Amino acid sequence: MEERYPFAAVEEKWQQRWAAEGLYHVDDFDSRPKYYCLEMFPYPSGRLHMGHVRNYAIGDVVARFKTMQGYAVLHPMGWDAFGLPAENAAIKHGVHPRDWTWDNITFMRRQLKELGLSYDWRREIATCHPGYYRWTQWLFLQFYHRGLAYKKKAPVNWCPSCATVLANEQVVGGACERCKTPVTRRELEQWFLKITAYAERLLKDLEKLSGWPEKVKIMQANWIGRSEGALVHFPVVGREEKVSVFTTRPDTLYGVTYMVLAPEHPLVSKLTTPERREAVEAFVARARSMSELSRTAGEAEKEGLFTGAYCKNPLTGEEIPVYIANYVLMEYGTGAVMAVPAHDQRDFEFAKKYGLPIRVVIQPPGRELDAATMAAAYVDEGVMVNSGPFSGMPNRDGMRAVTAYLEEKGWGRHQVNYRLRDWLISRQRYWGAPIPIVYCDKCGIVPVREQDLPVLLPYAVAFKPTGESPLKDCPEFVHTACPQCGGPAKRETDTMDTFICSSWYYFRYTSPREESAPWERAKVDRWLPVDQYIGGVEHAILHLLYSRFFTKFLYDIGLVGCEEPFTNLLTQGMVLKDGAKMSKSKGNIVSPEEIMAKFGADTTRLFILFAAPPERDLEWSDQGVEGCARFLNRVWRLFNNLLPEIQGAPVPGANLVGVNRELQRLTHLTVKKVTEDVERFNFNTAVSAIMELVNGIYQFCDRVPPVDRNPGVLREAVEKLLIILAPFAPHLSEELWARLGYTESVHRQSWPTYRPDLLLQDQVEIAVQINGRVRGRIVVPAAATAAEIETVALEEPRIRQWLTGKTVAKVVTVPGKLINVVVR
Ligand SMILES: [Zn+2]
Ligand SMILES: [Zn+2]
Repeated sequence: MEERYPFAAVEEKWQQRWAAEGLYHVDDFDSRPKYYCLEMFPYPSGRLHMGHVRNYAIGDVVARFKTMQGYAVLHPMGWDAFGLPAENAAIKHGVHPRDWTWDNITFMRRQLKELGLSYDWRREIATCHPGYYRWTQWLFLQFYHRGLAYKKKAPVNWCPSCATVLANEQVVGGACERCKTPVTRRELEQWFLKITAYAERLLKDLEKLSGWPEKVKIMQANWIGRSEGALVHFPVVGREEKVSVFTTRPDTLYGVTYMVLAPEHPLVSKLTTPERREAVEAFVARARSMSELSRTAGEAEKEGLFTGAYCKNPLTGEEIPVYIANYVLMEYGTGAVMAVPAHDQRDFEFAKKYGLPIRVVIQPPGRELDAATMAAAYVDEGVMVNSGPFSGMPNRDGMRAVTAYLEEKGWGRHQVNYRLRDWLISRQRYWGAPIPIVYCDKCGIVPVREQDLPVLLPYAVAFKPTGESPLKDCPEFVHTACPQCGGPAKRETDTMDTFICSSWYYFRYTSPREESAPWERAKVDRWLPVDQYIGGVEHAILHLLYSRFFTKFLYDIGLVGCEEPFTNLLTQGMVLKDGAKMSKSKGNIVSPEEIMAKFGADTTRLFILFAAPPERDLEWSDQGVEGCARFLNRVWRLFNNLLPEIQGAPVPGANLVGVNRELQRLTHLTVKKVTEDVERFNFNTAVSAIMELVNGIYQFCDRVPPVDRNPGVLREAVEKLLIILAPFAPHLSEELWARLGYTESVHRQSWPTYRPDLLLQDQVEIAVQINGRVRGRIVVPAAATAAEIETVALEEPRIRQWLTGKTVAKVVTVPGKLINVVVR
């Protein structure tokens, strides 16, 4: 008999057999209730890393557990395959992005299979496959036809190193998220998706997502950034124009002492007085070259310049100076800010710097602010002062009252604003889905006809980091016929942000090879929404928000039946080594390849699940991995030792006593605990419970001689052990299950149930001492009294023989533990 678990041979054998049998295939319409378990699909970067392994090991336990509980589980896998790294590899190493990507997919698919994950590989998708991106393009046209995809010239974040436009979300601390180069600004004609049209619903429906972590919902709400306030119009002195301003603090309007415009504000060139023009133009040029984040970051220097113009506070009639400043952005609000230095800290600092007046209009309770001596703005609640008819009013009430007054006078109105911007989707890149639009001199912007999709990416292009899409230099791609008039036309050469590809992939898994539509409606209705989505918290904002937006849009146009795509969300923590995230630069990477080669897939998975609860960060531990390997070997040896004894043993009854009863109880207790833990995703404690059961079986075998063992109880313990271990260590469990003589996979077994009556420790074994020496054992009800125990002990035949001819002097009973009979 093999002393050590030969994991390599066992894993390979079962992976082949599972694939041949289609064990993890799920049909779309079987009679079981459905469960859609989805892990975020990977970018095919080359090799799996431990973060991937963790993500998929968690998903695999959920999928297997739900299958054993009787659900038809959809558990698919695919590739988020467009994107920048492929193109960078092309520039750096001269490999074509398509070849690079497909080679990586081939390698990583093999790694996933070696992990023994229960995917239905028939449903595999890759977003770079024309059969997929055809529908990405088709979905773009659905947005376009409904006015939700549009083109406009816009200042964009530009990474000079990657030579591409970045979405705001891809700019971190003023630098490119990918290469850390400081981001600059450029004006380009860009395609946008109108996600702002869904801002209110995206915010409101967060309430429906009770299965999402609070922190993710808060991050989304902040990103959407709803604020309520008033739109106020300030007439420009001596001109027709008005400066419109959105404020969340209409109660402070009487304290406005100056106005600030974004340098890009269209009024700037009109308002600026001749003597200020030169300085203003220089200031504007400087601000335009700075990135949005470097202009607005907290530590950035707030710089401003007087335009020479004034506008009038509608409430007071007072004339206030108009400034421009680098920290005001055209894309947020109206591109103009009314300044209330007494009650806004940024305005306060600006006023101090440029010697502008400060006027207190909100007084805090119990003390009096003096503008001349204030050290900081007062931003809290209080009573309105110096505010005309509103003086004396609590400022909360004042917000509504002033807004109503503005509306009555025609000076403004109530307004809701969002921080959320429209989604900039144009990328000046090759490796993405081409935007299906052509430009015709006669007809203008013309969408590609649906029957002409996909607009295929040409293979033969040159990769130069020029800042323009490589497709521009590809005449066969660019020149085409106008779908409307048939005349010569040019194709759009920008490709789509890859976040578009990943905003709908979970629908495609239901109909991966469908050619007449992005999906079959009945299949989407069968499987969606996703019951459990699992992935990294770094996707808490963008990917999840975009996916929710797509789903709502698709719901509105009647293509899907759900308004939210993901019912439950689990965001798993990172895998750390020596307290830091694994990374090349820190040199602390543990490669899954290496660990799997050394210990096998089951050990790798078991460690990842055992080392920490899924939401927490996981600290890599070589000893931990070795411990898991030892545990699986313990299971292997235990099983093989017991096999002759338990094979064919009958199912035990419920009337066992003593040690057999105790083992039976441990088995049922373990099933209960593991079931509850897995349901709550407490995989680490579930694994501990399984380990305790194994210890319990070992102790039973050590302590109880074969003649006293009930083989049925042992068999039940071992069988239930294999079934509850199966989601964690699928290969070992399958092998041992087969050795028990079963021909149907352990993964097709029902999740075991437990009998509540067997959980009670209703029988206890008690040692019987005669004059302090153990002479026998009795089994009594756990609740037995001292008198009852004494009666049973003294009548026990083996004890009685010790009492013959003696006198019982004294009996000491410790209920539940022992009884000592003192005889003379
Ligand atoms: Zn970059
Ligand atoms: Zn035309």
